[in-house]
Amino acid sequence: MARMVVALGGNALGETPEEQQAAVKSTAEKIVQLIKKGHEIVLAHGNGPQVGMINLAFESSSRTEEDVASMPFPECGAMSQGYIGYHLQNAIQQKLREENIDTNVASLITQVIVDEDDPAFDSPTKPIGAFYSREEADRLEKEKGYSMVEDSGRGYRRVVPSPLPVDIAEKDMIRELVASGKIVIACGGGGIPVVRKENGLAGVPAVIDKDHASEKLAEELEADYLIILTEVEKVALNFGTEEEKWLDEMTTEEAKRYADEGHFAEGSMLPKVKAAVEFAESGPNKKSLITSLENADAALKGKTGTQIYEAREGEI
Ligand code: ADP
Ligand code: MG
Repeated sequence: MARMVVALGGNALGETPEEQQAAVKSTAEKIVQLIKKGHEIVLAHGNGPQVGMINLAFESSSRTEEDVASMPFPECGAMSQGYIGYHLQNAIQQKLREENIDTNVASLITQVIVDEDDPAFDSPTKPIGAFYSREEADRLEKEKGYSMVEDSGRGYRRVVPSPLPVDIAEKDMIRELVASGKIVIACGGGGIPVVRKENGLAGVPAVIDKDHASEKLAEELEADYLIILTEVEKVALNFGTEEEKWLDEMTTEEAKRYADEGHFAEGSMLPKVKAAVEFAESGPNKKSLITSLENADAALKGKTGTQIYEAREGEI
């Protein structure tokens, strides 16, 4: 039996409420397979399309409807955790019931603390929300203090920073739930980004990478595995080229070298590999695994997926 933090990628959820409702059924099946084996599972998930949709809906309707307030980005993130958690926890609970496994699932609204001095705040990179004309973009910069950038000829978009996670505000609660055998869904969308202020936590418009937040969660929970489930069965070198080579495993040293050589795309595979390396190096017997949802079980048996581990003394 092992403790695992499982990070679900975009394909575990789909992009519309209907798609999500359908996708979480097969996601739940795979997750309950792992629970059935006796593993302690904590789930984290992405929220890109979902928070994008929520943000865009408020942005456009608050422009035309007087009684729709403009919704701050951290609040949009909180809504996405609720919306995704609602579907996921129902689907997993139902599957547990069918399998006669006597436990409960809870999604926890999770705030992830970031450092106000994180250099990411000096150069926002993550585009969110609608496309605007140059005039509208200028006005938003002045009136709301947004950072707006031109996005590949399609107009201007707001960009927010992507700082690294420093701490998880609700970690004690997550620990208690896990210790009492509950299934927890936490750190959705990388968590709601907050900074510490004298009078408590304050939300900031930013996006925390869900792979990094999941890594932080895995460390905090002293998990044995960080499992990053995405669209591909394995990580590749020379991805998408004729020299493509799928990897069964890599040491953290190899992974760092491959990353430096540019094998992993920024914003997709690179944060996963970085998170996997960080977790594998966080203590003895810590392993990371990158694979697809379909192959999670087989990958845990060493049959597929890409394992990332730290080569320690005595090993080659
Ligand atoms: P998620 O939504 O699961 O977080 P992303 O779509 O952001 O995942 O990233 C996973 C994608 O990264 C894969 O589907 C693949 O297209 C792409 N990718 C980029 N570089 C690599 C690589 N070296 N090996 C495998 N996949 C890669
Ligand atoms: Mg994706």
